[in-house]
Amino acid sequence: MIILRENALNLLKGNNTKEFEVLVALANLSRAENVGDQVCIHGIIEFSNYCSQNCLYCGIRTGNKKIKRYRMPLEEIKRTAVSASNNLGYKMLVLQSGEDLWYDTDKLAWLIKSIHKECRRCLLFLSIGDRDYNTYKVLYNAGARGVLFRFETSDVALYEKVRPNCSFSERINHLEFMREIGYLTASGPIIGLHGQTMESLVDDIYLMKKLKVTMATMGPFIPASGTPLEDNIGGTVSLALKMIALTRIIYPRARIPVTTALEKIGGNEARIAALNGGGNAFMLNLTPSQYREYYAIYDDKNKMESHLHSLQAVGELTKLIKACGRKVCRGWGTDFTLNKKNFASLCNMEG
Ligand code: SF4
Repeated sequence: MIILRENALNLLKGNNTKEFEVLVALANLSRAENVGDQVCIHGIIEFSNYCSQNCLYCGIRTGNKKIKRYRMPLEEIKRTAVSASNNLGYKMLVLQSGEDLWYDTDKLAWLIKSIHKECRRCLLFLSIGDRDYNTYKVLYNAGARGVLFRFETSDVALYEKVRPNCSFSERINHLEFMREIGYLTASGPIIGLHGQTMESLVDDIYLMKKLKVTMATMGPFIPASGTPLEDNIGGTVSLALKMIALTRIIYPRARIPVTTALEKIGGNEARIAALNGGGNAFMLNLTPSQYREYYAIYDDKNKMESHLHSLQAVGELTKLIKACGRKVCRGWGTDFTLNKKNFASLCNMEG
């Protein structure tokens, strides 16, 4: 299935219900043909909300003095991950924090190795921000196999405006060297930033394809209190759904998660619409309850009913996935293009 850039742009700009329905139906067809019916349920542990960066859109930016900061002790992160894998059936976990150098390379390597010692075949993704090549290499050797590292927007001027002191080319360079090391990459844009054009959103889709990201992850912008963008208008469900559908058609083999930001503004209806329009994964929050409210990258992020109790959340999500005629996958998922050599070493780690 081929779609021209010009058509993608018109669909993104358009407001025609019939065209939207056709787009969603084509995306669903593309999803079925290219990645099948599986919907993976991954978990995320937000282990620190300290961040040295000052992104204008983010509630845990260093300049936001209104939020309470926390750091989970390494043992507690390990226990949470091990329990998620061994007791709750998660085989893919994201370890996420702000850019917090308190967790240095040695601590992170210890954490990754310790989790692997107690969990068999658990795929670990890191979402820890900018670190140099050597750090990511060491962490790969420790057993991490994925990175969640959004490029946020392909509009260079906008990127450098909303991420002060950061360079777009460095961001892309990071994604490239991460792939080179062997990581699976998860990346994509924020949808609906003030000043973002439809043209740049289409570019975002082609950039995900060019970077060969394993997971095309994108979510609507939600303003966060205490940030310079707190009074901006957020992204919409319909624009996010169009982006998912177009990504599925333009880059058909990507894993496309239904992001928490989309769930937050659109609820269960948006979850279902995203699944029916190209999505094929979810990420449930496994952060211990005493920390959750403080990982406020946008307002009320972790107050979603659907993420409150992980066992209950998995049960409810399972029902929803099945009601959409899809199959639940609690493993890595067969749509990942795995580098056999790299994953064999992971599988052979002691469990
Ligand atoms: S977006 Fe990431 S790097 Fe930027 S302030 Fe938030 S947590 Fe830090």
